[in-house]
Amino acid sequence: NMETKVAVVTGSNKGIGFEIVKGLCRKIGAVYLTARNEERGREAVEKLEKLGLRPLFHVLDVTDETSIQEFANYISTHHAGIDILVNNAGILDFDKSVTSYEDAKRLMDTNFYSLLSISKILYPLLSNNARVINMSSDWGLLSNIRKQVWLDTLVKDNLTTVEISQFVEDFLQAVKNGKNSFVSFAGHYSDYKVSKVAMSALTFVQQKEFIKQGKDISVNCVHPGFVKTDMTKGMGDFSPERGAKAPLYLAVDAPQSLKGTFVWHDCHQVNWD
Ligand code: NDP
Repeated sequence: NMETKVAVVTGSNKGIGFEIVKGLCRKIGAVYLTARNEERGREAVEKLEKLGLRPLFHVLDVTDETSIQEFANYISTHHAGIDILVNNAGILDFDKSVTSYEDAKRLMDTNFYSLLSISKILYPLLSNNARVINMSSDWGLLSNIRKQVWLDTLVKDNLTTVEISQFVEDFLQAVKNGKNSFVSFAGHYSDYKVSKVAMSALTFVQQKEFIKQGKDISVNCVHPGFVKTDMTKGMGDFSPERGAKAPLYLAVDAPQSLKGTFVWHDCHQVNWD
C-alpha cells in the first residue's frame, strides 16, 4: 500500500531531487523533502504546497553525522521505518575540471563518505522490502577510471567497502601531488568521477550484504541523464523533471526483484563495468 509508505530524498530543495519529491508526493503517503539548509528547504516545500502537494520536511546535512542521527531519531519516533531512500545530494563545481585537495575532499565527503554515514545511521531504519536509490552518473561507469590496479580491484566478486574507501583515499592522496596526478585517475573532473564510481561500486557491495542478511531490500544506482540544473550551470539535455524519471521508476515502478543494478535514464539496465 503506497499510502502508508515513507520516502526520503536527500538534497531535495532543488534540481533533480526536488522533482523526485514532487513525483513521489503523487504516489507515496509520507515524503520527506530534506535539505542541509532549513530556509532553502522550507521554501521548496512551499513551492510544492502551491501545487497542492504535501511533502514533509526535515533538515538533513549528509556530511554531518549529528544531523543524520537527529533525522534518524525523528523518523523512528514518527514512523515504522523508511521504505524509499533516494541518496541524491551531491556536489560538483562545473567551472573547475581540476580541483584543490580541500575541494576534492569536500566533494568526497558529500558524494561518497556521506553514503557510509547514511548506511550506518539510516539503514537500520529501512523496512524489510525497502528500496535504496543512489544517484550516480555516466561519469560513475567504471570505464572512466584509468588506473589498472583499481579497474582490477573494483570488479572483484568479494570487493569490500573498505577497499572502495581505499580507492577514494588513494585518489585524494594523488590530488596532493598536483594537477597531473589528479588527471591521471580519470581525466578532467576526476574527483567527481571517482566519487560516482565509488558510489556505484558501493551500491553492488551493499546489495550483496542485504541479500546475505536475508533481507528483501533493493539497492540500485542510476544515471539520470545530462540534466539542466544549478550543478550543470543550466546546461544539459533534459529538464529536472525528465531527469527524475529513472529514479522515480526505481523508487516506485521497478519490480522488487531488480537488485544491484545500474539503470540508465531510459529506465533500462546497463553494464557498469
Ligand atoms: P543541484 O545542484 O541542482 O542539487 C544538488 C542538491 O544537493 C541541492 O539540493 C544541494 O543543496 C544538495 N546538497 C549538497 N550538499 C549537501 C549536503 N551536504 N547535504 C544535503 N544536501 C546537499 O544538482 P542536481 O539536481 O543536478 O544533482 C542531483 C544529483 O544528481 C547529484 O548527486 C548529481 O551528482 C547527480 N547527477 C546530476 C546530473 C546532471 O546532469 N544534473 C548528471 C548525473 C548525476 P543546496 O541547495 O543547499 O546546495
